[in-house]
Amino acid sequence: MKNQTGTREWADSNVNFITGCTNDCKYCFAKAMAVRDKRTTPEDWKTEKVREHSLNKSLGKKAGTIMFPSSHDITPQHLPQALQMLKKLLSAGNEVLIVTKPHLECVKALCSELGNYKNQIIFRFTIGSADSTVLKFWEPNAPSFEERLGSLKLAFTEGYKTSVSCEPLLDDNIGAVVAAVTPYVTDSIWIGKANRLRAQLKLNGHSDASTTDRANELLACQSDENILALWEKDKGNPLIRWKDSIQKVLAKVEHFAITN
Ligand code: SF4
Repeated sequence: MKNQTGTREWADSNVNFITGCTNDCKYCFAKAMAVRDKRTTPEDWKTEKVREHSLNKSLGKKAGTIMFPSSHDITPQHLPQALQMLKKLLSAGNEVLIVTKPHLECVKALCSELGNYKNQIIFRFTIGSADSTVLKFWEPNAPSFEERLGSLKLAFTEGYKTSVSCEPLLDDNIGAVVAAVTPYVTDSIWIGKANRLRAQLKLNGHSDASTTDRANELLACQSDENILALWEKDKGNPLIRWKDSIQKVLAKVEHFAITN
């Protein structure tokens, strides 16, 4: 892979078929880009709109791993269509990375309907905090921590390859997520900072004082010093992979050590 940042750290290409996402995360990058480009409004984003052209497009075999989805989620509202897309991708022989804030209902259906393609799939469940009140604040309509953990256990028990994304980190206790998910992860646990948080909150219509305070708290948790301490603590964990945002901090510290 040429560009080792963002989703390209994980996959060679992305497939999506919806504009909008009912989870309506405050920090959502896809929403911010859609608002900036006037393809949606901050209020409209939570109404999912299927792009029929994308849904009905034929999908052949592509080189490398395909991430599905990357700019929306797999939610109960459009589960049948998500399954339709996945079956098209998988029956063409593609390797698919399924990235989602997992709704248990959706994961049950995916596990039961995609069993024939188990070897072509890796699940990556996003869990940025083990505290459901924190998740509720940042990701208002996404599943609770307990539901996400239950989904991970299910996919693991059903024999699928599993991984977790702790990006964005949503509090200063990611160790609680790592400890809870480790028994059910076969592949990796990715850790990454909250990127471009202030700019995205602004575009997404969250400039109120309480969100700004919470954002400032979160960014303070992700100071270079704290990120370095997190890395020191977990650097020996073979499951953990550090996203580009953390690699940048490490490179900065290394450069500082060499030049001083
Ligand atoms: S789940 Fe993903 S696409 Fe949906 S609102 Fe949250 S960050 Fe955006």
